[in-house]
Amino acid sequence: MGAAAVPALAQTGGAKNIVIASSNGERACAKAMEILRTGGDTLDAVVAGVNINEEDPADDSVGYGGLPNEEGVVELDACVMHGPTRRAGSVASIRGIKTPSKIAKLIMEQTDHIMLVGDNALRFAKAFGFKEENLLTEKSRLAWLVWKQSLRDPRGHNNWTDGLDAPHKQGAGPGAALHERFPGVDPELLAYAWDRAIHPPTGTINCLALNTKGEMSGTTTTSGLAWKIPGRVGDSPIIGAGCYVDQEVGAAGSTGRGEENIRVAGAHTIVENMRHGMSPKDAVMDCLKRVSRNYDHDKKRLAQFDINFYALRKDGVYAGGSLWSGQMSRGKFSPRKFAVNDGGASRLENCVYLYERS
Ligand code: ASP
Repeated sequence: MGAAAVPALAQTGGAKNIVIASSNGERACAKAMEILRTGGDTLDAVVAGVNINEEDPADDSVGYGGLPNEEGVVELDACVMHGPTRRAGSVASIRGIKTPSKIAKLIMEQTDHIMLVGDNALRFAKAFGFKEENLLTEKSRLAWLVWKQSLRDPRGHNNWTDGLDAPHKQGAGPGAALHERFPGVDPELLAYAWDRAIHPPTGTINCLALNTKGEMSGTTTTSGLAWKIPGRVGDSPIIGAGCYVDQEVGAAGSTGRGEENIRVAGAHTIVENMRHGMSPKDAVMDCLKRVSRNYDHDKKRLAQFDINFYALRKDGVYAGGSLWSGQMSRGKFSPRKFAVNDGGASRLENCVYLYERS
């Protein structure tokens, strides 16, 4: 099928205001919709939306309060793409700035480059008046300390020797003396920290918007993989992986294990799938199958990570899809969802998925 398979706006009754995001994005979608309703730009809308998560110390996957790298330092990645001008901006491994999506947008708007990284990205942000701040909260510092401590335990997670891309170590239990090591810490908080230590979380917000003029934009922002090796960059700031927008076709983005997404250039793949006539749902499912194929569809290995994709076509049709039907956290199963706002209150909808998590 050719490009003609993408429904023209005229045939679908015109574009509408619609915002979709990862499951942590209900507030972001509502904020972005507020801006779209007043005729605001789609990129201004999604960036203002995700700024809520970036500035929220309770969201431990994005911006301020995000879980840090191995050395206890928060390093953030983000990108933006503006459909109408077909421009992009990106920042990786930036420290000390709560809102990396704003820096990615600034790079897009103020420079002839697309991506800045590390210390020089911070210097650039400061030149534009951004304040350098400590992004570690007491909660994320405790989670990091517990992770550090867990390295004493052979079952503890370690970027250098353990994981999907490195040989596995065998080991025993979680370390019974944890409470003794952290006396006086609220048991609930310690349970959270231990869960984070042994299951280093990924978490991010991707947000995509379409307005009544048919304009589209997207952004993805994250603190990346918890306990990462300093300098590790995930998919979020990679244009074509963490986010991609083609004004003629649609937009896509991703959250979850970035290494898998980079291997399939997920957001670009999904937009190309839609260009060639697939529905957003089929486009997302095809991308998930490519991830699965990279592990020869071995569910044992695939079970070790999560990855999610979001797609919004130019005619307002959208989908969210995940590798697994849901996730286990601290013994509880929750189904995979994504956030949508098409004018009323934001809501969570179910993701389509490739495999059932038992
Ligand atoms: N994709 C992000 C990364 O790998 C993390 C996430 O979305 O959870 O850095």
